[in-house]
Amino acid sequence: MYIYKVGVVGAGTMGAQIAEVVSFAGVPVLLADIQESLARRGVESVRAIYQARVDKSKMTPEQLEEKMLLVTASPNLEALNDVDLVIEAVSEEVTLKQRLFRELDRVCARSAILASNTSALSISAIGASTTRPGKVLGLHFFNPAYAMPLVEVIPGLATDPQTVDDVVGFAESLRKTPVIVKECAGFLVNRLLSPYLNEAVWCFQDGDVSIKEIDQDMVAFGMPVGPFTLLDTVGLDIALEVARILHRSYGPRMAPAPLLEALVKAGRWGIKSGRGFYEYSGGEERSGDQALDSLLQQVRQSGGQTGMEWTRLRPLLAMVNEAVIAYQEGVASARDIDLAMVAGTGFPNEKGGPLHVADQLGIDHVLHELEALRDTLGLRFWPAPMLRRMVDAGFTGQLAGRGFFAY
Ligand code: NAD
Repeated sequence: MYIYKVGVVGAGTMGAQIAEVVSFAGVPVLLADIQESLARRGVESVRAIYQARVDKSKMTPEQLEEKMLLVTASPNLEALNDVDLVIEAVSEEVTLKQRLFRELDRVCARSAILASNTSALSISAIGASTTRPGKVLGLHFFNPAYAMPLVEVIPGLATDPQTVDDVVGFAESLRKTPVIVKECAGFLVNRLLSPYLNEAVWCFQDGDVSIKEIDQDMVAFGMPVGPFTLLDTVGLDIALEVARILHRSYGPRMAPAPLLEALVKAGRWGIKSGRGFYEYSGGEERSGDQALDSLLQQVRQSGGQTGMEWTRLRPLLAMVNEAVIAYQEGVASARDIDLAMVAGTGFPNEKGGPLHVADQLGIDHVLHELEALRDTLGLRFWPAPMLRRMVDAGFTGQLAGRGFFAY
């Protein structure tokens, strides 16, 4: 099915970015919100994204105006009656999304596909609120959508394979990298990123190491930014909410680090509140403030290990182990898991992704290290059973010529 026209509902941060991506690919897009004035504000946000490109001489003012001809504020939902695809990007509340999908089901053509940009809600539950669950799926863009190549395509329990094919083709036409992900809490990228970030917080909480040292070491490994800079950018409240959703779904291995909870409780939400792990003033990032120190001491006093030596293997193996568990569950292929982490988080391309890293380290070594971490730090490091199977069968990674990948 060719997608000639797209509707985007919810003209906030993500809605505007998605509308920009769609129009940039030459596809007309109608932007809707609760009121037309909000939709118009969304159109202005799209213009601002294009304007930033003009300012960097990446496009001409004439090209900007050409693209903007494709972006229209929708007066109401009814105006979406002739679109081929709707991408919903309203606030993250399941009842709100279900109500909206019922409305969209009523106003849109029977052939239209209805996609949700939800980060964490159940696609199956959203689809079930319509009379066309076969044409409902998740289409998860990353922030900022104009820069991040990855989109996760998430079929719900009732989604037709044809719908998935159509949306994968559409995502490719936007020059994005679509990865099909089996529905699960956190989908793929957030499910793997959250334990990595959480473990970085545990490392700081437990050990004799500063946030700056951890950040610098992960950047030296090849990450685009360190875990604490990333947490402050995403927002600690959002990161904690994701961690809690994953904790509810996957159990103790995803329990949020107490220090993360303490910072959120203290109103340190990251860049948006002026303070998170770092302090932000006058556009500068500073570390080592006393308030953070005293939160750290309080958390340490209420239990936990201290004085552990920092090793980047800890956050990395938290991610690698979750990648193996997701692989075991068939959430995505080994290639797609690695591709998603490179395209969705900036995991260093030359390292190939977490499963390639496991192969490079040696699966036997990964298993051994995870067992050691489990014995010292607890059950969150319980190794994925697949690792033992691989070791027993001689699939020990790059040196052996076979692991998650063939060499
Ligand atoms: P946002 O708050 O910036 O925008 C939400 C918009 O939805 C607002 O303009 C609001 O007026 C509108 N809205 C609310 N109810 C509506 C309704 N009934 N009909 C039409 N419009 C309605 O939110 P956001 O950050 O853009 O997030 C939107 C979605 O994208 C969420 O599901 C979120 O989980 C997901 N997401 C966000 C990010 C991110 O980094 N912000 C990344 C990936 C996915």
